[in-house]
Amino acid sequence: MRKASMQGMARMGAALLTTIFSVASSAAERPNIVFIFSDDHAVRAVSAYGDSLVETPNIDRIAAGGMRFDRAYVGNAICGPSRATLLTGLHSHANGFYSNEWSGPFDGEQQTLSSLLQTAGYQTAVIGKWHLYSDPVGFDHWEVIDNVMEQGTYYNPSFRSPAGIEEATGYVADLVTDKSIAWLKAAQREGSPFFLLYNHKTPHRDWMPGPEELRNWDEDARFEEPETLLRNLDGQTRARREARMRIEDYMTDGDVKLSKTFNLTPEQEALWEQAFAEGNRQYEDADLSADEALRWKYQRYIKTYAASVQSMDRQIGRLLDYLESNGLMDNTIVLYSSDQGFFLGENGWFDKRWMDEVSSQVPLLVQWQGHIPPGTASDALVQNIDFAPTLLAAASVKPDKPMHGVSLLPLFEDDPKPWQRDLYYHFYENPGFHGVARHYGVRTERYKLVYYYQNDEWELFDLVTDPDDQVNLYGKPDYDDVTGDLKQRLAKLREQYQVPESDPEVPWYHGPFIRGVEQLMKWL
Ligand code: CA
Repeated sequence: MRKASMQGMARMGAALLTTIFSVASSAAERPNIVFIFSDDHAVRAVSAYGDSLVETPNIDRIAAGGMRFDRAYVGNAICGPSRATLLTGLHSHANGFYSNEWSGPFDGEQQTLSSLLQTAGYQTAVIGKWHLYSDPVGFDHWEVIDNVMEQGTYYNPSFRSPAGIEEATGYVADLVTDKSIAWLKAAQREGSPFFLLYNHKTPHRDWMPGPEELRNWDEDARFEEPETLLRNLDGQTRARREARMRIEDYMTDGDVKLSKTFNLTPEQEALWEQAFAEGNRQYEDADLSADEALRWKYQRYIKTYAASVQSMDRQIGRLLDYLESNGLMDNTIVLYSSDQGFFLGENGWFDKRWMDEVSSQVPLLVQWQGHIPPGTASDALVQNIDFAPTLLAAASVKPDKPMHGVSLLPLFEDDPKPWQRDLYYHFYENPGFHGVARHYGVRTERYKLVYYYQNDEWELFDLVTDPDDQVNLYGKPDYDDVTGDLKQRLAKLREQYQVPESDPEVPWYHGPFIRGVEQLMKWL
């Protein structure tokens, strides 16, 4: 109690000092920040990156107005840990949030982007997906998705806030946007700079499009299949062979809309029926081979994924319209990113977790008028540990303790200095859904070296000749020098970030529990 009140007084003192400072240094100089953060949105489904599955005209506005990062990655491709890294600028082992399943709740009392900005006089809010199992800290306002282990539901989700639980009616992307615009209006009246974390649930599994997309559903539309949809993984590492990622085995009837969703109003249910019932009848009447059934599931999957992206993109457009029509773009940094990428049928897989490009790479678009030349692109190797240091640097706020990431502001200069960087990756969630082995690795300008340490297996990819992580070169003749160099780089990164030798303990019952839930999902 005494400690808490001392901390409270210290915070008040710091806030007072910052207020005095901000009056002296003119609050208007500090930019507002709107971070648009989505869930499982792969680069291949953002049209600003070209050759996209789906058109995202509104997300693309940010690229057109600013910089597109072509090599942005996360350090641990899973929802909660990625969010903890955004807030702390630290890799998972240093912020304590290793896994969605066994390392929560997130300790919000540690140094975070939100607390630092709040103390510096920013108005701060997080609205939408949170997924860190503790109440947000450092946010003046928070309304976060609550139900289903903080995954929330696409239709009629509930929101948790200091006022309690609200059972909302409507589509999640629309609701998150309504709430965000309402908060922006209030923040604008207040006058001091603001930081909004506008967090979409979309397009997370189980990929439910919004009402507009259901109304215009085209059952006959067909998406191109990835070349590796039917890939046989025999001869690959045990880690790849034993992962439970395959569409035909692990995608449920609910995922592909063969079974009904719950929680819909009669109007929503009518739209649902109109979109899917006839296609479902045809599927059930047809006598499909295993490959044909996989192809059908792939189409349903990818079409609902793409449509969910469009439902979100339209709402992002509404928020951007609000910022533009209220003259806020002049002094607001707008960022778009996702908590990680996603397998969209590559290797016959769905989900994320891997250090593979499609899973660990994320879209990163940053617009800041007068500071970032519009319509530019950067191929610098950057990571989600850099988000917090970048935004703090833009706001002229110095963190008390060092972060793992670095500020990306130098990359916005006209003629940026050469960028030298290796990236560290570490996935811990095993046992866990999809059975992906723990692994860590290094990504350099050209290569990627991955170590599956539970199996003592390595993978080496040359990303120039093999951008899709298909050909494991580890142990192949002529790669000894490259491998030796990469192992040194990896050891150096582990030392730099002080990665502990051993991982945290996982409760003994966790593995059997996860397998039980997976089995149950297949039956349902
Ligand atoms: Ca995610």
